[in-house]
Amino acid sequence: MRDETLAVHGGYEADSTRAVAVPIYQTVAHDFVDAAHAGAVFDLEVPGFHYNRINNPTVDVLEKRMAALERGVRAVAVSSGAAAVRMSVRAVTSAGCNIVAAPQLYGATYTYFAHVLADEGVEARFADGDSAAAIAALIDGSTRAVFVESVGNPACNVVDLEAVAAVAHERGVPLIVDNTVATPLYLKPLEHGADVVVHSLTKFVGGHGTTLGGMVIDGGSFPWAEHAGRFPMMCSPEPAFHGVVYAEEFPESPYAVRCRTVGLRNEGATLAPLNAFLLLQGLETLPVRLERHEHNARLVAEHLASHPQVAWASFLGSPDHPHHELARRYLGGHYPSIVTFGAKGGYEASIAFFNRVKLFKRLVNMGDAKSLVAHPASTTHRQLGPADLARVGITPDMVRLSVGLEHVDDLLEDIDQALA
Ligand SMILES: *Cc1c(COP(=O)(O)O)cnc(C)c1O
Repeated sequence: MRDETLAVHGGYEADSTRAVAVPIYQTVAHDFVDAAHAGAVFDLEVPGFHYNRINNPTVDVLEKRMAALERGVRAVAVSSGAAAVRMSVRAVTSAGCNIVAAPQLYGATYTYFAHVLADEGVEARFADGDSAAAIAALIDGSTRAVFVESVGNPACNVVDLEAVAAVAHERGVPLIVDNTVATPLYLKPLEHGADVVVHSLTKFVGGHGTTLGGMVIDGGSFPWAEHAGRFPMMCSPEPAFHGVVYAEEFPESPYAVRCRTVGLRNEGATLAPLNAFLLLQGLETLPVRLERHEHNARLVAEHLASHPQVAWASFLGSPDHPHHELARRYLGGHYPSIVTFGAKGGYEASIAFFNRVKLFKRLVNMGDAKSLVAHPASTTHRQLGPADLARVGITPDMVRLSVGLEHVDDLLEDIDQALA
């Protein structure tokens, strides 16, 4: 057995818990002491960084902090949230198998599962809703993972993670949870039975709409060796990495080590060190930003709910939201600053609102310090027909607001003039 701690994170002993200044290691590769040292670093036998596609000291600090926040064992950073979703699934799939997902998913995740994975011979089975029973019904002997978003984007459904984890584990399958919308400050899926957590750091973590990034965090909890037949990539020699048997040589987090040594090393969706630096700056202010986001979102949601030009408004923090009870249970009494609504007059009226706002930015992003407006049916989810739209929780008239940090009076004034 090798030294996993050092092998995965190299020898850089940055303090990952204090907000110390983090240097940017803007270099492609790191020098070796001599040939023996180089060989040992490549074989993951001694600490050290070798080449930035695989690991980097600045990125390492971000990985350690995200792993700490999610209570995970190891984290692997990648260039975007989409790359994180892909790597999380690729790490356990191969042609002929399937994954089971709740249908309420981020647009690019849905199309990736439905169309791109299929091309690779992996079937994505979308459950009839996000309930544990609906998901359990689709799991069979070829299922390699269950995938859900803890809080769906943009549907804002809250998944009962403990129930879903139970049905996945009963059948010997790991649960992968995209925790982007909730953030680890509101919810830590690994504490509710998830085995792997995925993030788009582009959103609330970065927080300023400047930088793409993603993260895959291994809880280290899934007993791969007990399901060796289902997971040969963890339990038999890996040809892409000189015959390593991950579950034997890296028992603490074979999944994360495989993500790094195959996912990153061979597929190369590496996070740039400068981007890690920018995302680390975002992470430092995440708690204070979330407070203001939530405060503003609540006032915006209340304003919309009582506005004569608004047909419906939806915010997880409202007691009448269908997922409010689950949100209370899983998000510790906090609610993400996503507010959706439909203007009276349907699709056309919602588009008119979208076109008229002045302060809200017409951007397909979320979690930015600036308030953003999106119309999913005509942008992020425009490839989907009416039936698929309904399945992912989007109505044609749905306007999605990501409520930012501006003074709330300015936001309400902008909403009023755009609805007038
Ligand atoms: C944005 C988003 C992604 C994709 O992240 P990128 O950083 O844009 O690639 C994945 N999942 C969710 C829930 C998202 O909101």
